[in-house]
Amino acid sequence: MNDPKVDYLVVGAGAMGMAFTDVLMTESDATVALVDRHHQPGGHWNVAYPFVRLHQPSSFYGVNSRPLGEDRIDTAGLNSGLYELASKSEICSYYDNVMRDFISSGRVRYLPMCEYHADGRITSLVSDVSHNIAAARIVDASYMNVRVPAMGSPSYEVAEGVHCVPPNALAGLGGEWQNYVVVGAGKTGVDACLFLLENGARPDSICWIKPRDSWLWDRARAQSGDLFETSIRPFALGQVIAAAESESAEDLFERASAAGLLLRIDDKVKPTMFRCATVTRSEIEQLQRIENVVRMGRVQRIDPGRVTLDQGSFETGPATLYIDCTADGLASRPPRAVFDNNRITLQSVRTCQQVFSAAFIAHMEISEPDEARKNLLCTPVPHPDTDMDYLRTLLSDLANGSLWAQDESIAAWLKAARLDGWSYPHSSAEADAEFNARLEKAGPIAAEKLMGYLTSSQA
Ligand SMILES: Cc1cc2nc3c(=O)[nH]c(=O)nc-3n(C[C@H](O)[C@H](O)[C@H](O)COP(=O)(O)OP(=O)(O)OC[C@H]3O[C@@H](n4cnc5c(N)ncnc54)[C@H](O)[C@@H]3O)c2cc1C
Repeated sequence: MNDPKVDYLVVGAGAMGMAFTDVLMTESDATVALVDRHHQPGGHWNVAYPFVRLHQPSSFYGVNSRPLGEDRIDTAGLNSGLYELASKSEICSYYDNVMRDFISSGRVRYLPMCEYHADGRITSLVSDVSHNIAAARIVDASYMNVRVPAMGSPSYEVAEGVHCVPPNALAGLGGEWQNYVVVGAGKTGVDACLFLLENGARPDSICWIKPRDSWLWDRARAQSGDLFETSIRPFALGQVIAAAESESAEDLFERASAAGLLLRIDDKVKPTMFRCATVTRSEIEQLQRIENVVRMGRVQRIDPGRVTLDQGSFETGPATLYIDCTADGLASRPPRAVFDNNRITLQSVRTCQQVFSAAFIAHMEISEPDEARKNLLCTPVPHPDTDMDYLRTLLSDLANGSLWAQDESIAAWLKAARLDGWSYPHSSAEADAEFNARLEKAGPIAAEKLMGYLTSSQA
């Protein structure tokens, strides 16, 4: 089938492909074809467990031109006092509405249930129809390769007779289990434990297998809008000051932890993981009720009544349900040039701010003609995984942020961008000036120290 030529062929109608396309819609007159394997936009949100919510506020998630939610501050529950977090169904319905707007603009062609192949072919997943779409640019909005547990089976062996399920199954429990073993200490593991506790599971019925402990972000410090001046702004500056005043990487973690910039569930255990999982202190208090925590490395196999790990094994009780929360979510992908001739590869350009990054890259694509400069301004910040990646991402954010601040038109775009939780349209000029002055002073010292710690850690 011959299809009309478009300016951009976007592969992936997930969070990043949608945020990128939205900026093309609002800041240019480009035409776009959006291809995705799913039947509706939203990417991994379509297969996520039913009780998943954003872990950072809705107020700076989604696409730039359309608010997500109502900017309400929750008054009850574990997120009380903080901006609302959209649920899975809210996010999927939001993206459905955004896509409808795209389509009704007459400039977007949407090809759901279609697969894009490396050789440029697009084939239908429900018929033998294929599409041949000529495009001036190909936008890879699938590079982050998000994996959620429901997308595959566990990486360890599960013997016959063992009931091991993704967290999606928790919402359908029928009272048949007495004990739960949660495998995985990332955000999905956190969500599974909280789901069980919030729904009345006794803490001593839960065993939590943690191959690694994690540094966590405090959601109270990731608040924009009316809370911006007391939340994100001091958090952003506090991280840089902690780095500038630190004497070693270890000292930096101690300072960040003492200042509440980084949280952990167990103060006695030194975390070796950092993946931007964002929680509240109330959630941490709940998680601390689980005392049966197993730290024996990764699970190798599960047999009826026994779990074998890298460093040992333990017995489990009767009627045990195992919940596999080990999928990688966002993996740390090797960085690539974002702009490479007619190919654009969407990646984070600020730590764990994927939708913001996709919108920013689209803005650069439209407004900056020089490819080398575009790439400089869009230096990828790979998704963190280890504690030392915390330092790497902080350093990269400092470098990118400093370049952006030097360009008045970028600074103006950032300040107005809904997806940029790190700035606020209504912050006063005096407050902005004071923040910038303090950042300019501490930033270079912090950068030098971070570089030193990273170099000596690799030696
Ligand atoms: C549980 C969870 C919670 C999160 N919470 C937050 C949050 O609170 N705040 C925040 O800022 N970020 C959050 N994130 C991260 C982030 O918002 C995005 O969700 C993330 O970047 C994934 O978006 P994506 O578009 O890169 O990937 P995906 O959602 O995986 O989208 C990629 C799409 O590409 C399609 N695709 C891939 N290959 C092909 C192909 N060959 N042909 C056709 N289609 C293809 C896939 O079908 C998929 O729909 C969260 C992530 C997870 C996993």
